[in-house]
Amino acid sequence: MPFVITDPCIGTKDSACVDVCPVDCIHPRKDEPEFATSSMLYIHPDECIDCGACVPACPVAAIYDSPDSTPASQKALIEANAVYRVGDTSAVEKAEAIVKGHMSSRADLMAVAPTERAAAHAR
Ligand code: SF4
Ligand code: SF4
Repeated sequence: MPFVITDPCIGTKDSACVDVCPVDCIHPRKDEPEFATSSMLYIHPDECIDCGACVPACPVAAIYDSPDSTPASQKALIEANAVYRVGDTSAVEKAEAIVKGHMSSRADLMAVAPTERAAAHAR
């Protein structure tokens, strides 16, 4: 079961997880053109080897260890992680549209500082 990046990454996007991932399955990286306009980072579900290295690296607890453990408030973002493919414009747009939809439907969470947002996920 792949790991999933959720909304505390929005507004943080520091790439700490990218630096520790042994299989380079988190995108976009800072050296990829999509990075500047990306709302958050995404984990490729088929490439993630479930090593868990990214979780303690994330300063805002944005990463859950499976779709099952991802809170209900973040479920839409499982699909965003799943469809995102760096270098594929249509896949990038699809993932970003899901994230934008989440941001408008969960304006309450977006109003919380990224460092506090994971604690609010259970609301
Ligand atoms: S669990 Fe491991 S392989 Fe999967 S995204 Fe995190 S660091 Fe990469
Ligand atoms: S470490 Fe966390 S906040 Fe930073 S880019 Fe990765 S998921 Fe986003």
